Amino acid sequence: MTRTGAGHLDRIAEVRAGRRPAKVRYPIRVRETRVVRVTEVGAGLLRVTLGGPGTEGFEAHSPIDHVRLLFPDPDGALRLPVPDGDLLRWPRPSPTSREYTVRRYDPVAGEIDLDIAPHPGGLAAGWAAAARPGTVIHVAGPPGGLFVPPAYDRYLFAGDITALPAIARWLEELPRDAKGWAFVEVAGPAEEIELSAPEGVEVIWLHRGDRPPGTGEALARAVPGGVTVPDGERLYAWIAGEAGQIKPLRRWVREELKLERDDFVVTGYWKRGVADFDDEDEQPPHEHRPSEHDNIKE
Ligand SMILES: Cc1cc2nc3c(=O)[nH]c(=O)nc-3n(C[C@H](O)[C@H](O)[C@H](O)COP(=O)(O)OP(=O)(O)OC[C@H]3O[C@@H](n4cnc5c(N)ncnc54)[C@H](O)[C@@H]3O)c2cc1C
Repeated sequence: MTRTGAGHLDRIAEVRAGRRPAKVRYPIRVRETRVVRVTEVGAGLLRVTLGGPGTEGFEAHSPIDHVRLLFPDPDGALRLPVPDGDLLRWPRPSPTSREYTVRRYDPVAGEIDLDIAPHPGGLAAGWAAAARPGTVIHVAGPPGGLFVPPAYDRYLFAGDITALPAIARWLEELPRDAKGWAFVEVAGPAEEIELSAPEGVEVIWLHRGDRPPGTGEALARAVPGGVTVPDGERLYAWIAGEAGQIKPLRRWVREELKLERDDFVVTGYWKRGVADFDDEDEQPPHEHRPSEHDNIKE
C-alpha cells in the first residue's frame, strides 16, 4: 500500500490511469461531527447525514471508502485516537468502533452520508435508529481506499444490504460504457433502491423473503449462475456481505473464474453472531481492507 503524504491524490490518478488496482492511503483524521438528519433509503437503510465544522477537509475518493464510528466505553468515557501527523495514535485497548461506507461526501454542504442497515442488538444500528439532529459522533478515517482502473472489460459486484452503499458508489463511478453485473440480496422489493448503473451493467435484486439476514444461498447460487465472461476478457470482481454467505463465492472466484489476486476482493462485512467482526483472518494480506489501525504509530 502506498504510504500517506501529499502525493496521495497524484497516486490515485496514476492508479486510475493504469491497468492494475491498488490501495492508496490518505492522511487520516479523527473528527467530531453532528447528525444533520436521518432519512430512510428504501426500507433497509437509514441514511445518517453528518455535518458540522469537523467535516471540513474530509476526503473520500474510492467507492469503498469507510469510516469508523467511535463509541464511548460502557462507563461513558470517550477515548479517542490522537492525531500524529498524517497518522492516528490509537489508545489501547482500542475504543469501541464500527465501520461504515462513506456513501457520499459533499464538501460544499459539509455533509457526509452513511447508510446504516438497522438490525436488532447492534450497537451502531441502535445508535443510528436513535440518532437525532444534533447528536454528536466522532468518526475516524477514511484510512485510504482501493482504486480500480476503468480498464476491465467487465465488472462484477455482489453483496447484501451492508454492501449496497459501496455497490451504489461503484455503479455511480463506473464509466458509462462499462459492462457487468451487480447482484444485491435484500429482504424484498421494499429494500430495493434507485441505482445509477451504466446501461451495460445488469442489476439483479435477490429477495431473501422471511429468512434472517445473513442466511440462505441466494447470492451463492445466483452469482455463479448469472455470470459468463467471454474468453480473453478481463473481469474485476468485488463481493462483500455476511462472512459465511460469501465464502462459496470466494472459492468460486479463485477456483472457477481463476481471477488473479489483484482482480478481485471478497470480504466479510459482518458475521452472524459476532459483534464488530473483522475479516482479517480470512483475507490474505493483499486483500484485506485498508484499516486505520494500519496507521497506528507507536
Ligand atoms: C469496510 C466496511 C464497510 C461497511 N459498510 C457498511 C455500510 O455502509 N452499511 C452497513 O449497514 N453496514 C456496513 N458494514 C457492516 C457493519 O460494520 C456491521 O454490520 C457491523 O457489525 C454493525 O455494527 P453493529 O454495532 O450494528 O452490530 P454489532 O454490535 O457489530 O453486532 C451485534 C450482532 O448483530 C449482528 N449483525 C451485525 N451486522 C448485522 C446486519 N447488518 N444485519 C443483521 N445482523 C447484523 C452480529 O452478527 C452480532 O450478532 C461495513 C463493514 C465493513 C468492514
